[in-house]
Parts: sequence; structure tokens; C-alpha cells
Amino acid sequence: MTAKTGDILVQADGVCKYFKVSGGRVLHAVENVSLTIRRGETLGLVGESGCGKSTLGRTLMGIYAPTKGKLTFDGREMDLHNKKERFNFSKKAQIVFQDPYASLDPRMTVASIIEEGMVIHNMYDDARRRERVLELLETVGLNREHANRFPHEFSGGQRQRIGIARALAIEPEFIVCDEPISALDVSIQAQIINLLHNLQNDLGLTYLFIAHDLNIVKYISDRIAVMYLGSVVELASSAELYDHTLHPYSKALLSAVPIPDPEMEAAKHRQIISGDVPSPINKPKGCAFSSRCPLACDKCRESAPKLQEIRPGHFAACHLVEPEKDDV
Ligand code: SF4
Repeated sequence: MTAKTGDILVQADGVCKYFKVSGGRVLHAVENVSLTIRRGETLGLVGESGCGKSTLGRTLMGIYAPTKGKLTFDGREMDLHNKKERFNFSKKAQIVFQDPYASLDPRMTVASIIEEGMVIHNMYDDARRRERVLELLETVGLNREHANRFPHEFSGGQRQRIGIARALAIEPEFIVCDEPISALDVSIQAQIINLLHNLQNDLGLTYLFIAHDLNIVKYISDRIAVMYLGSVVELASSAELYDHTLHPYSKALLSAVPIPDPEMEAAKHRQIISGDVPSPINKPKGCAFSSRCPLACDKCRESAPKLQEIRPGHFAACHLVEPEKDDV
């Protein structure tokens, strides 16, 4: 995909999201994240489970108010501690959930599920809402006759289409796709990716596409942010990230992506990351990746590297990666 050059729709400046947990401790789910998402762009967000991707996604779309930092949407700073502002923002930003089985209320018909957001936001009269539900079913590749059925009557892929129709119902500008295909059969995944891609082109949508697999985000993302323990450690255009991977963590994630050619796959040097992601309640001092990084040195264990631009449009947070100098 080519990089989009539209105006900035979503901007996070130093956004943190913390949660109080038992014993008066604090879980640092998102730590000092600054990024932008341009209108019409897909920003991929990758990292292992528990690295804060979903919390960041929910913060950028207003489900959570940031503990610290500033969130700007369409040029306007959002006060997400204000209930009314959060409600208004919910019309502009929606989410497609990972699990199409758990995210649809089994007692509601498909029509009621899709219509719910329109009712909450007082959009249209009954007849127009009903017509819009039927239009949305067709938009996501389902039939009008499906409106009166219940979620259990559908396959996983069809349920995810219902979830997408629900997200589209109130005509949002920004959609957080939170691992929308990871619970689906591989054969269905491409269909859902294609649907999301076509909807983006037709409706001018802006996506944050969350995944733990770099293979998936490569094809749908214009740019990709790699996240580790609550922070963005590398950010670049999709092609740049794959061709000039800078951060040791991103390199390890990429080396885990299987190559379809068996010979190339067998010859590939796989970089295994040892250990688990440390607890976000008790983060290591210095670089958050230092407890697992094969290149960690004393400096890494003492001070945290800042995310800085290394090559044009390519940011990384690692002491061993220096910004490229212009030729004199
Ligand atoms: Fe590894 Fe050090 Fe770079 Fe962190 S700063 S990623 S520990 S080399």
C-alpha cells in the first residue's frame, strides 16, 4: 500500500493509561505514546499479548480516558473525562472486536445489534433505521433476510461481518480493528481483510489495525507501530519496516513470520526471544526490552531509550540505533 498523505485525524501526545490494581499497585498499560494517524490511513499496531495494544486502541477511540497526555481528534483536543464529550466522540470512533462469538449479544437479533448505535445516537426514524440495517447487511456481504436471525445461526466469518456492520452503522470516521481476524479460520481471514480494505476505499475510513502477527498487518497497513510493554518501540511505513527493520524486538517478531517457500523457511535464521514480557506493574529499569534483548548492555539497563527519527519517517527507540547523518 502507498503511504497516505491526508490530514491528521488522530493524534496522541505523550498518552499514558494506568490502572490501579490490588495492593495499591499501578499497572502501566500504555506509557508515553505519541503518534498520528492520517485520514484514510491504516496504522498497524503489533506486539505480543499483554503489551498494551488493545488498551492503546481503546484509549485512542475514547473508551478509556488517558491518565496523562493529550488526545486530539480531527484537530480538536478531546476531554475524555467529560461524559458528554465521550458520548459525542463515540459517534466518530468505533471498534470491531476480536471475538465475533463473545462480542454479539446472543439474545438480540442481527437487526437489533446493528441498529443499537443508531438508536443510542438518535439517528433517523424507525423506517429509515430499518432500511439502513438492510443496506448495511448487503454492504458487508450478508443478505437482507439475515436481519431477523440470531448470532448463533451464523459462522465466525459471518458474525464478524455483523460486527463490522454494527461498527459502520453510525457512520464513524475512525475504526479500531482489534485483532478482527485472529479468531477466524485462515480461509476466512483474507475475506474479512478484503472487506475492510474495500470499505476503507469506499467510505474513506481510517483504521487502527491491531494484530500480534506482523504477517497480517503487512498487507493492510500503510504504516506500522511495534509496541512493547506499553510503549511504541518502532514506527515506519510498512515497506520501510520490513526492508530496514531497526529495533531488536521488531527483528525478533519479523523472524517469527513463516516464509511460504519451505527451502527459504528452513534456511532462515530465526531469532527466538527468550522469556516472557515483564509485568507492566513492575517494569524493568532502563530499556523495557533489556531483560530479553540479546544485545542489552549496561547503558540499556540504566536508561530508557527515546523514540527518535532514525531515517526519514522511520522512528525507533534503541540505544544501538543512531539517526542517519546527511552526506556532507
Ligand atoms: Fe536492546 Fe538496548 Fe536497544 Fe533496548 S536499548 S532494544 S536493550 S539494545
